[in-house]
Amino acid sequence: MLESNNAFSLDYYSSIIKKALSNGYKFCTVTEYFRLGCPKEKHFILRHDIDARPRTVQQMIDIENQEGVKATYYVRLCGSPYNPFDYEIFSSLKSAEKLGHEIGLHTNPLEFAKILKLDPIKVIKSEIEMLNQHFNITSMSTHRDMDYAYNSLPWLIESWNQVKEGTNLEVHAYDEDIFKNSTYVNEGTNPHITWRNLKPEDVIDSGVTVYMLTHNHWWHKNHPFEAR
Ligand SMILES: [Zn+2]
Repeated sequence: MLESNNAFSLDYYSSIIKKALSNGYKFCTVTEYFRLGCPKEKHFILRHDIDARPRTVQQMIDIENQEGVKATYYVRLCGSPYNPFDYEIFSSLKSAEKLGHEIGLHTNPLEFAKILKLDPIKVIKSEIEMLNQHFNITSMSTHRDMDYAYNSLPWLIESWNQVKEGTNLEVHAYDEDIFKNSTYVNEGTNPHITWRNLKPEDVIDSGVTVYMLTHNHWWHKNHPFEAR
């Protein structure tokens, strides 16, 4: 009989939150953490970059609601393989925001602009404007496909004041103060899915602030083919 290789299960996800709560951690969104002045201890930032399979996001929102914690969801617009304004996805995001979760932009404006010969400032401003019609966008994260050439992060850091101007943006997900004061845990491939560096449950034991990035398309209830 084959053994399950579903290391990144939703039960595991839920157990991480439960462990943090029982260790006295306070959960906050990316913007809330920044507004609190980036405390070094006992805070937990749950960040989700939605790259693919956006319908699976609701499973994570349900777990967070059950545990009474808030997370940050970053959605893609330009170049996105999905439409965040799809009935089901929009409704997930909108109801999450109403319950206190944060919705933000996940974007690679430099790549989109280079490929289509556009102005990256115009690209990102149009994305923020569109999302702002329905959500309160105060933070964002940059996206990068593993096989694509253009990294928007250095560009964003350089252009941050211009990007922020005239918007409600307060912080981006790679802000120096956030990284200085927290321990970052994220999943990736090496060559298969694994934690890139530290495991969140080990960091929780130390009591330092945890900044956990997940990608919903890698987390499953039973197996990777249950939802697309
Ligand atoms: Zn991404």
